Amino acid sequence: MKYCKNCLEVDTRPRTKFNKEGLCSACTYKKKQSNLSDEKRIELLKKIFIKFKSHEKYDCIIGVSGGKDSTRQAVWLRDKLNINPLLVCCTYPPDQITTAGHENLSNLISLGFDVIVSGPSPNIWKKVLKEGFFKGNYLKGPEIALFSSVPQIAIKYGIRLIIWGESPGYIWNNEKVKRKLPYDGNSLKYSNTISGCDLNWSKVFLENPEKLTPYIYPSDKEFKKNKIQIIFLEYFSNNWSVINNAKISSTYGLKIRKDNAKNTGDLYGVMALDDDWVSLNQMIKYLKFGFGRASDYLNYEIRAGRIKRDDAIKIVKKYDGKCSKKYIKSFCNYISISEKDFWKQIDKFVNKKLFYKSNKGEYLPKFKVGENIE
Ligand SMILES: [Zn+2]
Repeated sequence: MKYCKNCLEVDTRPRTKFNKEGLCSACTYKKKQSNLSDEKRIELLKKIFIKFKSHEKYDCIIGVSGGKDSTRQAVWLRDKLNINPLLVCCTYPPDQITTAGHENLSNLISLGFDVIVSGPSPNIWKKVLKEGFFKGNYLKGPEIALFSSVPQIAIKYGIRLIIWGESPGYIWNNEKVKRKLPYDGNSLKYSNTISGCDLNWSKVFLENPEKLTPYIYPSDKEFKKNKIQIIFLEYFSNNWSVINNAKISSTYGLKIRKDNAKNTGDLYGVMALDDDWVSLNQMIKYLKFGFGRASDYLNYEIRAGRIKRDDAIKIVKKYDGKCSKKYIKSFCNYISISEKDFWKQIDKFVNKKLFYKSNKGEYLPKFKVGENIE
């Protein structure tokens, strides 16, 4: 496992690439991007809105959950740029969504936006989620539904422009999403979890083809025919960051996570606020690839010059991969498996080159954060 020389990105992340100098592509992107002035970015963004204007009332669709990024995007576009967005949210079923999750979605509606909320059938959802877990990522099905709902609505309403927050290509080192223009999001469906939005991985879909609708991502042909364009708003803002978006959104009523980082690995309690099992997913990611949510947060902060690599290492050591037993318990209850079966499955995912099992049955790292190992 190799680390980026500037941040703590690792080359075990799927579809990532380092350059000859040993820098991850997010670090090189950050350098390039900082040359653009705020005025130039806004000028470009305004031109894009004019170019893609297609609906009498709405200028674009924003895919939202009510979390820090979506709240920030919606108010920024409306209040600073005089843009009228339609918000589209594919929400979690009632037995999965957190209290903060539904309060934040209600908050977004209270802020005065038009919001379309879709809720795929909880039964199929649960089956797909369970199958996703056994294949290594329970969010695979839910994310396909989430990302598919937005272009589906865009086509129905005849709205050509879709806004998402960050580019998984440029910010999260996800090479397959990258296109020539860094804000062009039309390859979003190739990001890691949803990998092309192919549905053949799930026998649930094959057994219930008539129930697929919420999970079908419009084809490239439909994108072309309807002239759909996705853009990443992060590119157009100089002060876009996890913390800054959370701060801004909090002033507009965003509720953040109450549990502490020792239980969640979520340093500031602002990621994926609508779902508590995300900590469990981050733990699995850590055991598979050697990095977790704390690394993701801090890589961002290192690139922005707000924390030194050495200081970040200390925090990553303490919090990466943390997940309280209570989340594991409630997840097992939800998908009706025993905790013993849960751990049996996790054992299959663990990267044995990176972790060993202690006498107490805990997985401990063989590596030192920030130091390359062969
Ligand atoms: Zn880097």
